[in-house]
Amino acid sequence: MTYSSGAPIRLAGGRLALDLVNTADWTSDGTVADEKLVTVEDVCLWADALGLPKSLQPESVGQLKVLRSAVRNLLTGQGDAGVATEVVSQAMQGADWKSALPDARDESGQAVSLTIAQLVAVSAVSILSDEREISRVKLCPGHDCGWLFLDETRNGRRRWCLMATCGNRAKARRNYARRRVVNG
Ligand SMILES: [Zn+2]
Repeated sequence: MTYSSGAPIRLAGGRLALDLVNTADWTSDGTVADEKLVTVEDVCLWADALGLPKSLQPESVGQLKVLRSAVRNLLTGQGDAGVATEVVSQAMQGADWKSALPDARDESGQAVSLTIAQLVAVSAVSILSDEREISRVKLCPGHDCGWLFLDETRNGRRRWCLMATCGNRAKARRNYARRRVVNG
């Protein structure tokens, strides 16, 4: 699965809120280094890759990015926590949570739906309110990666968002450094 640009959609977060954060690459000061969500189509492609219900309403991309930054700030402790809290709580408003349950219908028998932002906000709150989960949220140390993921390994020593990207880049750098030492 790819974004509309052809870039692969990679899921590494383990939670919806974390996978939204990972729709961009981030510099160490928390600004976007590489943006994957350009159009509403990108939001739909990403939601499809996650297996989210098709009934979810797609968002304005701008609104979803504001929420994404707020979620990331709360989970990493960067930025203004007060502002971020306000953004996340705003995103949850107006949600008919009953509609998240299977086969929920409104009074007229229509299927009702949530927005992606509402689900992301609740995912973030559930991580933040669970001490075990928040202690397992890790920030990938890859250069200009900044992805977040839930480390569910037994020993809690997962280091990279994905071996296929950051893990292998780090390995290649180590090998290169070693060769330089050997060939001196
Ligand atoms: Zn990474």
